[in-house]
Amino acid sequence: MVRESLRTPPVLAPNTLRVTPLGGHGDIGRNMSSFEINGELMFIDCGVLFPSEEHPGVDLILPGLHLIEDRLDIAKALVLTHGHEDHIGAVPYLLRRRGDLPVFGSRLTLALVREKLREHRLRDYDLREVAEGDRVKVGEFDLEFLSVNHSIPDALAVVVRTKAGTVLHTGDFKMDQLPLDHRLTDLRGFARLGEEGVDLFMPDSTNADNPGFTPHERDIEPALDRVFANAKQKLIVACFASHVHRVQQVMDLAGKHGRKVVYVGRSMLRNMTVARELGFLRVPADTLIDLKQIDNYRDDEVVIICTGSQGEPLSALSRISSHEHPVISAGPGDVVLLASSLIPGNENSVYRVINGLSRNGVTVVHKGNAMVHVSGHASAGELLYCYNLITPKNVLPVHGEVRHLIANAKLAVSTGVPEASVFPVEDGAVIDLPVGGPARLVGQLECGYIFVDGLTEGGVSDAELTDRKILGEEGIVSIVAVVSFRSRTLVSGPDIHARGFAEDDSVFDAIRPELVSVIERALADGVEDTFQLQQLVRRTIGRWVNNNFRRRPVILPIVVAS
Ligand SMILES: [Zn+2]
Ligand SMILES: [Zn+2]
Repeated sequence: MVRESLRTPPVLAPNTLRVTPLGGHGDIGRNMSSFEINGELMFIDCGVLFPSEEHPGVDLILPGLHLIEDRLDIAKALVLTHGHEDHIGAVPYLLRRRGDLPVFGSRLTLALVREKLREHRLRDYDLREVAEGDRVKVGEFDLEFLSVNHSIPDALAVVVRTKAGTVLHTGDFKMDQLPLDHRLTDLRGFARLGEEGVDLFMPDSTNADNPGFTPHERDIEPALDRVFANAKQKLIVACFASHVHRVQQVMDLAGKHGRKVVYVGRSMLRNMTVARELGFLRVPADTLIDLKQIDNYRDDEVVIICTGSQGEPLSALSRISSHEHPVISAGPGDVVLLASSLIPGNENSVYRVINGLSRNGVTVVHKGNAMVHVSGHASAGELLYCYNLITPKNVLPVHGEVRHLIANAKLAVSTGVPEASVFPVEDGAVIDLPVGGPARLVGQLECGYIFVDGLTEGGVSDAELTDRKILGEEGIVSIVAVVSFRSRTLVSGPDIHARGFAEDDSVFDAIRPELVSVIERALADGVEDTFQLQQLVRRTIGRWVNNNFRRRPVILPIVVAS
C-alpha cells in the first residue's frame, strides 16, 4: 500500500490525464473520482458515506469536495454509474456549488437523483440521460457507457477516452450470468476495449478478497421461499431501499404465498415508486397495500418490506426492534428477514437490532444463518477474468477499504500487470497518466471528511463530536432557575432534569437545597450576571455528580432573570 505523506503535485503537463480519488478509497462510501486534462475537469460519481458510531449525530460524510470547489468553473461533467447512495448521495452538495454542471446517468439513476434534488429544493439543474452503447463528447472527455450488472438496475461502466489515453471505470459491478432482468455485464465491450487498449483500469474492489465467484441472484430463491413457507404470522423483510431486484423477489413470493405487500420507510416507498413507474419493478395488481390499511389484514396475509437492514438507528426496523414504531410491532412467532449484506463498520448496529428482535421472541433470518442474500459486487474470480480480458496497462482499484484495494491490486499483479503500474492508493492521491504511460503517483492531497449534520454542512468539528459522544454515553443534566436581580431572590426552580443519566429525577432532591443556597448566597452578594450564576450552578452540580456517580454528563444550566 502506498501511503504517502502530504505532497503537492507538480503543475499538470499538457495532454496528461490527472486522476484523483476524492472518496471511496479507504472507505466503502462517498465514492468520487476527479479527472483533469488540458484545463478541464470531469467527475465520476458523487456519493456519501454513512457515519459510524465514532461520529454521533452526523448524518452524512461527503467526498473531498473542498479539493475541487474553487475550480468548478472548468468542470465539464459529473457522470453517475448507478443510483446507490454511496454514488449519488452527495450530488445535491456538489450542485449547490455549481448548479448547471451537466450530470450524466442512466434513466433510473437520474430518476433517483431528481427525487433527491427535489428534497433538497434544488432547481435548474442539467440532467442528461444516457444508456449503454451511448457515446458522448464533453470537452476533452469522450465518454462511452457499457451495461453492468449490480444490486440496482440500470448500472453503467464508464469509458473515458482522452488525449492521454483510455480509462475504463467499472462502477459497482458483478458478472451474474443469469440476472433476474437479463441485463448482463457487457464482457464483449470489455474485450473490445481490451483490443483497443486500456491505459487505466479502475475496477470495483469491494469483494476482491472473496475467492471464487459471487453466486447468482437466483440462487437465493429457494431460501427466500422457505422463509415465506415457514412464516405463520407476521413477516418483515428488511433490505436496501434501492435493491429493486430483491424487492421484486419478495413481491413475487408474496403473490405465490398469498400475502399483500406494504412498504415501510420513506426511502423504500419513494425508490420503489420510481422503479415501478419506469418499469424496473413489476407489481402485480392488488398486491400493494398502504400502511394505513394494514389493520384490515391478518398478520399472515401481509409481508412488510422495510429499510434498516444496516441497523440504522432511525430506520423502521430499528424502531420495530425497540418497540418504538408507531404502527408495526414484532413479537413471538413473527419472522424478520434481513435480505442484505453487512457493510463493514455496521456490525455493532446490525447485531444490536438482531439482539433486540431475538429478545422479543422474533425469529431473525439473515445471511449468517441462511442463503438469503448475495452480494452485488464481483469476487476475485470475476475480477481475474476482467484483468485477463482487458489486459490494462495501469490499474487504480476503486471502491473499498484498504484491505479490499490491496487485495484487488494483488489480483492485477497476479495476471501480469507490472506492480509499479498498480495503485492501491487512498483518497487524495494524485496519479498522472502521460501519453504513452506509464501512470505515476505524483502527489498526495489532504482529503478529510466533510460532515453533514442535519442541514448544515461542514459545521461539525471534532470537538463537537466529542461532546456528542459524552452526551450519548454519560447523559445530560439540565437545570433551570429564574431569579430576580431587583429583589435578589430565587423566583422559581431550580428544576433539574436528566436524560440518559438517572432513572428518575428524584435523585437530584439531595443536591437541590445546596443549589438553592448557592444561588441565594450569590444573589445576596450582589451577583447580577446570569452567566456567572450559570457557572456556579454548573460547578455545584458537576462536582456532586462526579463525586456521587463517577459520571461526567453534559451539564446545561439555564438561569433567567425575571
Ligand atoms: Zn452500488
Ligand atoms: Zn457502491
